[in-house]
Amino acid sequence: VSNLITIDGPSGSGKGTVCHILAKKLQWHLLDSGALYRILAYAALQKNILLNDSKKLADLALTLDVSFVSNGTGVDTLLAGKNIGDKLRTEIVGTAASEVASIELVRSALLARQKAFLQKPGLIADGRDMGTVVFPEAKVKIFLDASAEERAQRRFNQLQDKGFNVSIAQILSEIKERDYRDRNRAIAPLQPADDAFVIDSTELTINEVVEQILTLTEL
Ligand code: C5P
Repeated sequence: VSNLITIDGPSGSGKGTVCHILAKKLQWHLLDSGALYRILAYAALQKNILLNDSKKLADLALTLDVSFVSNGTGVDTLLAGKNIGDKLRTEIVGTAASEVASIELVRSALLARQKAFLQKPGLIADGRDMGTVVFPEAKVKIFLDASAEERAQRRFNQLQDKGFNVSIAQILSEIKERDYRDRNRAIAPLQPADDAFVIDSTELTINEVVEQILTLTEL
């Protein structure tokens, strides 16, 4: 499949921003698969479902009423019609997302929903297992990485810009903990597909990463 680019990698690697820019440039659809895991975790927390209750979480994943709606500047994330976009980026939801994401039943319950995003003219798929599990047929697979320290620094800058008073040591330890869980889980661990191009963004700007990907894709 040539109208599909998968971009996997750890949090803070720049994936999200790179994917938005590419989707806009190419006028392709965008799948933010991490958002699906975050929405599921958020909904589970709201409903007091335990984060290790596989059966209830998988049922919730199958029935979740989610939609992503463009709003001119970005995308609104609607859960049962309510915009919950600003509730999803917290570390609590991120950590809970990584917990529910380690459950096999949950991952298979979200599979069809993710595959359905592949539509004309094309798709940029952002996640951890886009190239390995969800879209193994993709022709261009990118694995975007960066050092944990650089990723913590980026997240720190983002949060400071928003006026949050946070400690970089705390962020670094949360990033390392989530990475460890994502890379070492039994099901769909975070790792590059065999045929992925690995890009280390530690010393690169976002635009340099975008240019590298467009060159690789010959677009
Ligand atoms: O990318 P984001 O930080 O929003 O993802 C939140 C969590 O969801 C990740 O830490 C990971 O555990 C999980 N995830 C996943 N597979 C994906 C996308 C996200 O397991 N394709």
